[in-house]
Amino acid sequence: MNIEAIDKAFVMGTYARNYTSFVKGVGSKLYSDDGSEFIDFASGIGVNSVGHGNEKLVEAICNQAKKIIHISNLQVIEPQAMLAKKIVELSGYDGKVFFANSGAEANEGAIKLARKYGKETNEHKKYKIITLANSFHGRTITTVKATGQNSFHDASFAPYPDGFKFVETIADIYEAIDDETVGVMLELIQGEGGVYAFDKDEIIALRAFLDEKKLLLIVDEVQTGIYRSGEFLASNFYGITPDIITMAKGLGGGVPIGAFMSRHKDILKAGDHGSTFAGNYLSCSAGLATLEILSELYDTHKLQETIKYFDEELNELLKDFSDIFESTSGIGLMRGIKVKQEYDVGAIVKACMKHQVIILKSGRNTARFLPSLTITKDEIDEGFSRVRIALNDF
Ligand SMILES: *Cc1c(COP(=O)(O)O)cnc(C)c1O
Repeated sequence: MNIEAIDKAFVMGTYARNYTSFVKGVGSKLYSDDGSEFIDFASGIGVNSVGHGNEKLVEAICNQAKKIIHISNLQVIEPQAMLAKKIVELSGYDGKVFFANSGAEANEGAIKLARKYGKETNEHKKYKIITLANSFHGRTITTVKATGQNSFHDASFAPYPDGFKFVETIADIYEAIDDETVGVMLELIQGEGGVYAFDKDEIIALRAFLDEKKLLLIVDEVQTGIYRSGEFLASNFYGITPDIITMAKGLGGGVPIGAFMSRHKDILKAGDHGSTFAGNYLSCSAGLATLEILSELYDTHKLQETIKYFDEELNELLKDFSDIFESTSGIGLMRGIKVKQEYDVGAIVKACMKHQVIILKSGRNTARFLPSLTITKDEIDEGFSRVRIALNDF
């Protein structure tokens, strides 16, 4: 049996899978089992933040694996403490960190913290969280409910937990708040919902309002965090101080890790929350190496140069294919290009794959680019030239 047949026979079919099988990656290039070379503009949905086969990251993982991989959170774990310190320092945020294993899990923890905060700081418990239309917060039963898209709330999986309400726009949040509302959870740049960046002034005004009402702002930075926006956190880019920030995708450079950080440092106490795997030696060592690589990229302004170059290429693409595309969107290296109604973005993603460049779909009609933050100019050039060839079929 070939790998496709084995996959189909033994793995649950929850993904609309492409059956190209990759065996090796170098930087932003991927090689399939038949030796074909692909340009990776997706970086594993924003996970491979430092590219494939990054020597520093691989070395850190191998060195740590030889010493100790896991021990449990009943013991202090040095790389976990150091990674928490590093996240706090790089964000300039006065908070404490809890480690999880994924984005959804980080959001679950943030929701628990918010609910306990809502109980402890009010006579009558506040627990409701307002989220936004077209958001995405994860696949667990609670984070799926928090996700502001009806298509995610399939009746097959009901009942869902109470306490979530989604509204269309930031302006709608104000009237949706009631006596039981504890806070708002949102992505500053919606990743799955069309690469849509909220207006900075609207976000700053919302933050000020929530502060005044002692309501929480939970920012889901699972996709926007870890330099994806060009700053360490998109919250830094927007110049706001959230109550809780969640992270995951790019943090471990490919090793599963999630985290949430809060300025309400001591709401969660011993026994309130936990995880068997999370924050172990391996994932936190990967996180430390990833942050070391990325903070250097940031400090030397190489990241800003890459962002500028990518932006120029994307806007050239828009200009040269204005019959297919409507506009570009997003911030940093989290970018989208909106496809006109008469074109099918899924078909464009497929055509790109055929021409050996990997891009993603976001929302109904946006092609999404989430390259590794270490991508080179040559790789960007090669990727865009392949996208252009693919578009000539349309
Ligand atoms: C990917 C994503 C999640 C879910 O992360 P998982 O690691 O798949 O659980 C949650 N929120 C946002 C904004 C995401 O992009």
